[in-house]
Amino acid sequence: MALPALPKVELRELGNTGLKLSCVGFGASPLGNVFGPVSDDEAIGSVREAFRRGINFFDTSPYYGGTLSEKVLGKTLEALGVPRSEYIVATKCGRYADGFDFSADRVTKSIDESLERLQLDYVDILQCHDIEFGSLDQIINETIPALKKLKETGKIRFIGITGLPLGIFTYVLDRVPPGAVDVVLSYCHYGINDSALEDLLPYLKSKGVGVISASPLAMGLLTESGPPEWHPASAELKSACRAAAVYCKERGKNISKLAMQYSLSNKDISSVLVGMNSIKQVEENVAAAVELETVGKDEKTLAEVEAILKPVKNQTWSSGIQQS
Ligand code: NAD
Repeated sequence: MALPALPKVELRELGNTGLKLSCVGFGASPLGNVFGPVSDDEAIGSVREAFRRGINFFDTSPYYGGTLSEKVLGKTLEALGVPRSEYIVATKCGRYADGFDFSADRVTKSIDESLERLQLDYVDILQCHDIEFGSLDQIINETIPALKKLKETGKIRFIGITGLPLGIFTYVLDRVPPGAVDVVLSYCHYGINDSALEDLLPYLKSKGVGVISASPLAMGLLTESGPPEWHPASAELKSACRAAAVYCKERGKNISKLAMQYSLSNKDISSVLVGMNSIKQVEENVAAAVELETVGKDEKTLAEVEAILKPVKNQTWSSGIQQS
């Protein structure tokens, strides 16, 4: 007797790219041991489970674990042998373990290094990584034109920009030709504690740019086990999120599920990128997405958690250099 098909996550269009991304995206920074050590077995198991549950989008960077994330993701994709046309890989350029370099020369070399580590002929999206740490005018006048040339070689299909402060996106998109940037990846700005990205969505849509929202769990703040040591949030924000997690746990609820469902609810966001390093996390995050589609979210608990987090709503932290 055939086993019943596993419920799979929904696919969503990414701006004007024609790509259809799974609404739950696989953030591969944990594969670079960013949130603690991950064995090869755990990495392969998590990515295999992701495919089984309909996740087709994987995001990495040469920066994560000093190239380890790209290497582990490459090894894992190779081991699983999934046809290349069935998944979408995004990586980044300009941010490295030894610092930032958004020069045309560096990003042009960088993609070759990334492709080698990923064991791929092309990536679907190449994103300038955390552009607030570089000169935004260099990104506009030098980096994006260099990426356009890479598009013409077929090494990359689409161009993206990433970073924390939302103003960087409008600064760049107001100054580049239409279609020069295909994708924006924002993080920690569409979750229960911080939803500032919402106000920018109509603008991004008007520019025809696809939107990826990363870190729905606020890089660990909205989890029962809490954030890693390096987390940049203020003590006040950490403590409010801890209180919200404890509140949920005491009522038999899971803050991470609530947080995933909150981020997934807005369909103008094509994919919610969550960092995962175990089969259990993949199962839980996919189950949260499937439950959202079939049952809806737990509005009562969400309202209670939002009330706990109200004093710190949209509180963020500084990131990047002063732009001249
Ligand atoms: P996140 O909010 O996704 O949190 C990840 C943490 O939550 C990890 O410790 C993970 O093990 C844990 N987790 C995942 N699912 C869980 C569950 N169901 N229950 C409990 N814990 C769970 O933060 P993130 O990993 O930083 O962001 C996701 C991805 O987005 C990254 O891996 C990366 O690919 C991308 N990202 C990009 C940028 C950028 O370009 N500047 C910034 C941040 C994130």
